[in-house]
Amino acid sequence: MLIIFCFISINILNLHLLSIKCNKPTNKHDKMSKQKKFILPESEMPMQWYNIQADMANKPLPPLNPATHKPLKAEDLFHIFSEECCRQEFDQTHAWIDIPDEVADMYKYYRPTPLVRAYALEKALDTPAHIYFKNESTNPLGSHKINSALAQCYYCRQEGTTNVTTETGAGQWGAALSYAARVFGLEAAVYQVKISLRQKPYRSILMRTFGAEVTGSPSMSTRAGKDIITRDPMHQGSLGTAISEAIELATTTPHCKYTLGSVLNHVALHQTVIGLEAEKQMEMAGEYPDTVIACFGGGSNFGGITFPFMRHNIKDGAKTEYIAAEPASCPKLTRGVFEYDFGDEAGYTPLLPMFTLGHGFKPANIHAGGLRYHGAGVIVSQLLKDGLMRGVDIPQSESFDAGLLFARTEGIVPAPESCHAIAATIREAEKCKESGQQKVILFNLSGHGLIDMTAYEQYLNGDLIDYTISDEAIKANIDKVPKII
Ligand SMILES: *Cc1c(COP(=O)(O)O)cnc(C)c1O
Repeated sequence: MLIIFCFISINILNLHLLSIKCNKPTNKHDKMSKQKKFILPESEMPMQWYNIQADMANKPLPPLNPATHKPLKAEDLFHIFSEECCRQEFDQTHAWIDIPDEVADMYKYYRPTPLVRAYALEKALDTPAHIYFKNESTNPLGSHKINSALAQCYYCRQEGTTNVTTETGAGQWGAALSYAARVFGLEAAVYQVKISLRQKPYRSILMRTFGAEVTGSPSMSTRAGKDIITRDPMHQGSLGTAISEAIELATTTPHCKYTLGSVLNHVALHQTVIGLEAEKQMEMAGEYPDTVIACFGGGSNFGGITFPFMRHNIKDGAKTEYIAAEPASCPKLTRGVFEYDFGDEAGYTPLLPMFTLGHGFKPANIHAGGLRYHGAGVIVSQLLKDGLMRGVDIPQSESFDAGLLFARTEGIVPAPESCHAIAATIREAEKCKESGQQKVILFNLSGHGLIDMTAYEQYLNGDLIDYTISDEAIKANIDKVPKII
């Protein structure tokens, strides 16, 4: 009897121990604190993009016809862009816009992208902050730009367009567009800034691998290009010259439309898949961000990750802070003016109400090519004016310090553009260390830097230059902006 009793009690004890062992790994809090990656199931992918314009108290001002200064309507841009993108550009009423099935199917090739807790970076910084990043570098093109390239090419094909054209600087947008054009059976012609084409040949090879025709800009193939070369035979090209050439090709070729990789409202709209996924993934992590950070070129990856969270600031009183990290050498958010300005150098585009350094501003030749643009998108400009977000300036050396630390801790070499977001994140995490605040910080890793290794080589060799820009130089360009506001 006693033996049996002992046997049973030992077994109960064992069972009890066993249950403690079994329970431990499934303890909710333990599991959460250790989880590194938060992967959404495909079935949870967003089926609609979020259009923040519908929820903004102060709507963005309309673009203007440069000749008459009359507000433009969607139809006025149909000869340049796909009609659906024009309608999305001007849509201030529908908060949710369906993602077409074919685009959603293509998103499944590389989405949902992971949300990652940067434990190693937190440890290296010895910060109480919880740092998360949304990893948009995992697709084969290596940046977030593919999210809009697929949508733009889809609409072009639906509307009977056979050819698309665009400009590209370092080549991330050109590469994404070339692939998306192939997916939807379109021919792509890309004007790449001549100096970038020579200095960074790999992305032009990537574009040609996907079947695109790549031309260095300025070229002899357009009126605009010929004029520029006639005036300056040694012109190295700029985004401004390449935009002018691409728009000319689109408007003079039947069934050819122009596409753009940043700045415009519809581009930021397509990028909101980033933030909509991140919102669900932060929920999986059991946290909500106090601060959301992205690097800033024209605002598409910034809008993409922030707008879905910002809707809770606008509608539900959330207090999340939004930080756009721009290069100190191209400081349109922190040192620019809010005015109507052209989007390109030649003045072919409509006038857009934006924070600008002047369309004649020539940014220093920093490695973050995607951040070298003189103006900010119309939506983000209004949000900045209304105090819903702020900008910070990052010197080039600080951006690479941050990129190197991130590579050495998290094992991913970030794009030179993304390094700016990481630098801003580190600044915030260090503030948390000083104040002891345990903030939740989320940043967007917009791309990887594996095709930008010459930039890292320069940094490692100590040859990197920090460009500063004087108030006089900024004022000189801003003085040339038409004063309409
Ligand atoms: C183009 C690019 C950017 C900047 O463009 P936004 O429209 O401001 O997002 C940032 N990061 C990467 C990797 C890019 O290719």
